[in-house]
Amino acid sequence: SANKGNKSTVTPMMAQYLEIKSGYPDALLFYRMGDFYELFFDDAVAASEALDIALTKRGKHEGEEIPMCGVPHHAAEGYFLTLIRKGFRVAVGEQMEKPEEAKKRGAKSVVRREVVRLVTPGTLTEDTLLEARRHNYLAALGKVRDEWALAWADISTGAFHVMPVGQSRIGAELARLAPSELLTSETVDEELREVLADLGAEVTVLGNASFDSSAAENRLCGVFQVQTLSGFGSFTRAELSAMGALADYLNITQKGRMPMLCPPRQEAVSRLMSIDAATRRNLELTRSMQGGRAGSLLAVIDMTVTAAGARLLERRLSSPSREVDVIYGRLEAVQWGTEAVAADGVREALRRVPDLDRALSRLSLDRGGPRDLASIRNGIEQAEAIATRLDGVELPDLLAGSLKGLRGQNDLLVQLEAALVAEPPMLARDGGFIATEFNLDLDEARRLRDQGRGVIAGMQVEYAELSGITSLKIKHNNVLGYFIETTALHADKMLSPPLNETFIHRQTTANQVRFTTVALSDLETRILSAGADALTIEKQLYETLKAAVLDQAPALSELALALAEFDLSVGLAELARQRDWCKPKVDDSRAFHIEGGRHPVVEAALKSSGEVFIANDCSLSANGDAASVTLLTGPNMAGKSTYLRQNALIALLAQMGSYVPARSAHIGVVSQVFSRVGASDDLARGRSTFMVEMVETAAILNQADDRALVILDEIGRGTATYDGLSIAWATLEHLHEVNRVRGLFATHYHEMTALSAKLDGVKNATVAVKEWEGEVIFLHEVRDGAADRSYGVQVAQLAGLPKTVIKRARTVLDALEAGERDRTSPKALIDDLPLFAIAALPEPVPAKSGPSEVEGKIANLAPDEMTPREALQAIYDLKALL
Ligand code: ADP
Repeated sequence: SANKGNKSTVTPMMAQYLEIKSGYPDALLFYRMGDFYELFFDDAVAASEALDIALTKRGKHEGEEIPMCGVPHHAAEGYFLTLIRKGFRVAVGEQMEKPEEAKKRGAKSVVRREVVRLVTPGTLTEDTLLEARRHNYLAALGKVRDEWALAWADISTGAFHVMPVGQSRIGAELARLAPSELLTSETVDEELREVLADLGAEVTVLGNASFDSSAAENRLCGVFQVQTLSGFGSFTRAELSAMGALADYLNITQKGRMPMLCPPRQEAVSRLMSIDAATRRNLELTRSMQGGRAGSLLAVIDMTVTAAGARLLERRLSSPSREVDVIYGRLEAVQWGTEAVAADGVREALRRVPDLDRALSRLSLDRGGPRDLASIRNGIEQAEAIATRLDGVELPDLLAGSLKGLRGQNDLLVQLEAALVAEPPMLARDGGFIATEFNLDLDEARRLRDQGRGVIAGMQVEYAELSGITSLKIKHNNVLGYFIETTALHADKMLSPPLNETFIHRQTTANQVRFTTVALSDLETRILSAGADALTIEKQLYETLKAAVLDQAPALSELALALAEFDLSVGLAELARQRDWCKPKVDDSRAFHIEGGRHPVVEAALKSSGEVFIANDCSLSANGDAASVTLLTGPNMAGKSTYLRQNALIALLAQMGSYVPARSAHIGVVSQVFSRVGASDDLARGRSTFMVEMVETAAILNQADDRALVILDEIGRGTATYDGLSIAWATLEHLHEVNRVRGLFATHYHEMTALSAKLDGVKNATVAVKEWEGEVIFLHEVRDGAADRSYGVQVAQLAGLPKTVIKRARTVLDALEAGERDRTSPKALIDDLPLFAIAALPEPVPAKSGPSEVEGKIANLAPDEMTPREALQAIYDLKALL
């Protein structure tokens, strides 16, 4: 509609707006006007609703009023975040020149504006918009013929990776990376709609041209300023396509200002433990079922003290290794942390390490400031301190390698230390960040500027004497600059000879009269130009320092990674010490022996309420190298799920290179972990749950190899008893005979315990309970053998089912059990049962006649919704009822 408008009714500014907006139909255009960003038309309507800000009007367009809303420029970041979270993208249109410059071109000229950036979930760099301790990945999924590849980058740190991926593994890999934004082509988007819908990431569909693998090569050579990519490795067409799309998107969103990216690192899937999306959710590795970090394994094991260390931990936990050497290297580093005296000092120094990666990234995108330079300085300082502390200390290989990365930035450090004040401001704009004695011209300009201020004070005394008005003041404001002010009382005196020869009248307000003098304006000019000079010099120095830092960017990334590696190692060591974890033995065998294993998250939860976690052993290779499966039975609430998961978590922790919550652990490398829960626990996902369960079980049966660890919790319970039992039975046989996995299988089908007699590698275990005066007591102890019964009725009683129902259930159960022994058909049994006669049972005596008025009132309170004032009022109201 923009073009249809009659040109004469469109103001020049609105014409410019519409022109820019036409380039970004899918984004909300934030149009900079002075200190505000303004939005117009539909953008304004959408944004005002999403941000809950006022919608107003501004002029007319084609006879209709133009809806408008605006946000202050300095607060815009927060609004960006809100909009992005709500699924919008934002185009930031800035003023590219000063209004004065536009005026020079003619009175009606509009300030030149350009979109300088597209804000999307995957391209954030601002500290305020990012979680410090998490990566923010932008991923791209490329496909060339039948080959697929994933590329991903975190532009806030410069990390850049790529790997080929089989189509069936796409979901799992995306689950591992958890990108906040995924780029796909139109064709891929259609093909993978279901997988992508499940991802929870913003999916951005780009034209197929962005994914062209030939264009990709040129694009990437441009980004890395190389003639050929072969120095980085050899890439498949699909990999090039994915990386190329990523580079193209960064170009589009950052408007040609390429973020600093490390050369692409190729990841080989086969070197990592494979964990699919359902398993990650189920084991609550980095997010709990509720979706947050709290309650996840990550939250419980994170003792890192730097943001980069926390990000490295998340990366490791999301992708445990299956290479024994790598795992050993990491375990040795942790061991060093538990034993070395120097480790404590290292941890202390690390506490003062800022987020180098993100400071670097902001500087390279020109979104940084003096404070980022200071972060670099402080980071190098601490790195040097750690290196010095470790001088002559014997280190394991991994850390010895990192130690090298900590050194070598002395020149830059000396320069930054000399140049910067201790705590510089965030923005270069107002100056004040360069230390004295760094630059003589700057010192001189500042001296003049500050001296001028001293002279002004002297001038005030002089003019007070001259005029005989002791209350005379010299003040400053943005409109008049420096001026002399007296109260209106003295106006006549000041305005008549002889004083009016010196004092030049400038302004009269209700109570004051303001003057200037020739001397004062001269001085002001000198102060102003000295101030401006100082600022110019500071800005030049800022650019020089920034260039010096960016010149070292690759080495600084290396240094940041080295610091993170130290942080992670000593963090995991601290964890091991505090929680009494042990160093696992990991090798290429197929062993799985855990003594005294614990579930780290459940244990932490129990501990906080003063309860003790019961440790349990687990052995899945009873017959030497034979595949082995444990079939676990026991009542609900006994601790079956906890036991299953804890053993998977121990394997995972060991292979990420951490100590483990056990007395001892010997684990032959696990290639894949699968964890599934029977349907009814999975209701939250709101699909046909039995179908989901079967699809997921099929995935395991089709994919698991003989190095997989499989954990199935009550599989088959989503359907009728006999169906479920048969499916569970056949599944277990297949896993044991065909897949030959190590596995733990919890079931409430006691019939299955008979399998252990038929299959060599299957053994029975049960979680012990005691029955005492008709109630169950959970011992949480895993023992050999099958559960004698399921205690369902007792558990139901604990859950508060009415006594009448419990009593009746007991009767039915007794009859059924007796019937089973006598081989009577269930139908005949039911017919024989005495009727459920409620009248025959003792009436429960109601304890009370119902809630009192006070109780009723309290029950109706909604503390989360109340203001402190309302809460106080409620207390008064309650007291009044007594
Ligand atoms: P199930 O799967 O058999 O129904 P869960 O594994 O969900 O049982 O465990 C139920 C509760 O029992 C857990 O929430 C936990 O508080 C407690 N629990 C489980 N295992 C242990 C243990 N080894 N030691 C102490 N408490 C435990």
